Amino acid sequence: MKLRGEPEPLLIRGGRVIDPAQGIDAEMDVLLGDGVVRQLGHDLEADGARVFEARGLWVVPGLIDMHVHLREPGEEWKEDIASGTRAAAAGGFTTVVAMANTRPPVDDASMVNSILARAAEKAVVHVLPVGAVTRGLEGKELAEMGDMAEAGAVAFSDDGHPIADAEVMRCALEYGHTFAKPIIDHCQEPSLTRDAVMHLGYWSTVLGLRGMPAVAEEIMVARDIMLARLTGGKVHIAHASTRGTVDLLRVARTEGLPVTAEATPTHLCLTDRLVHDTAYDTSTKVNPPLRAAEDVEALRRALAEGVIEAIATDHAPHHRDDKEVEYNYAAFGISGLETALPLLLTELVHTGIIPAATLVERLTAGPARILGLEAGSLRVGGCADVTVIDPGLEKSVDPDRFYSKGKNTPLAGRKLRGWPVLTVVAGQVVMREGGVLA
Ligand SMILES: [Zn+2]
Repeated sequence: MKLRGEPEPLLIRGGRVIDPAQGIDAEMDVLLGDGVVRQLGHDLEADGARVFEARGLWVVPGLIDMHVHLREPGEEWKEDIASGTRAAAAGGFTTVVAMANTRPPVDDASMVNSILARAAEKAVVHVLPVGAVTRGLEGKELAEMGDMAEAGAVAFSDDGHPIADAEVMRCALEYGHTFAKPIIDHCQEPSLTRDAVMHLGYWSTVLGLRGMPAVAEEIMVARDIMLARLTGGKVHIAHASTRGTVDLLRVARTEGLPVTAEATPTHLCLTDRLVHDTAYDTSTKVNPPLRAAEDVEALRRALAEGVIEAIATDHAPHHRDDKEVEYNYAAFGISGLETALPLLLTELVHTGIIPAATLVERLTAGPARILGLEAGSLRVGGCADVTVIDPGLEKSVDPDRFYSKGKNTPLAGRKLRGWPVLTVVAGQVVMREGGVLA
């Protein structure tokens, strides 16, 4: 990570500190120094510390996004580590987990080392690499998972591609089990989704677009749960999007299986009706697709109950050329890092659907637990990663002002309430009032 020397002490004063990992939700001061959290308490003083007045603001552990596409190496015109981590900082994230489907993919230890080296030079937030499950993301032969784990891969995933071969998935789970790393699966039965561009349902029929049935996801989730039962290996379901998936996750939970899941802000807040309402705007095209209202409802309930333990953006920046085409030909994906927090606050917290502390948990301690990270909490002695949020701040989404090179968002022009105003990474202020400093 690109840091400019030792940060001076920083006192964040008088904010509402929400740290679910420690059961804290109270007004207090937070003192950072030497890159770690020094002290939490009342009326803290520190000689020479810079002071950030946080009265009326929320002070939370640095947000962790466990599913991001940084596009480097290979597609730097869509995004690179410098622009993607600045987008993360602007969005209040202090850690991003980078998916392996770059070009070439991250499928051996030298690629893991290369991502870490590039991040050390150019990133402004922590970057944790994911290694591919299979060589070349081809779904056939396992990649050198052990070497990659040793080099620093925090999980394994062929994300972007489902692991269609059940035997390959079984081996991956058994192998991953030996170093206690989760296999993150993009659950999609490929024969059911061929050439499909949106959710199969009422709106796909109205619009005459080829639809992906919800069961294409659910079949693979069910298979993965059965394989977790067989092997004891950890399965993490990427971007869960349907009511049926939620039902399956509940079964896995009842049995105590090592199965976890994430949902995206997109799937928690938007429905497939948006494809109709925006008249085929390709910024609504995402994989898995925007689902029906009943699916969104089920995801929200699962998130509130902890059946879905993490929120991850699946930040998928694209160039205009990949989106300014007919709906059928457009690339899948939404540039999500800079709108995630305000969208979730506006749609889920300010509406009373999810308490603030639950939202913070799913963006901090939840992903840290799934990945086994020493992060996601403001415990004294831990890394000084902090996000400060102004819950009342209203702004419209302006993709032209994104730090991300990907301007592809269906939220352009939408007024959202509750934005991050300070991002601190290892004691360094990297974003203030929406402006990235590094
Ligand atoms: Zn993804």
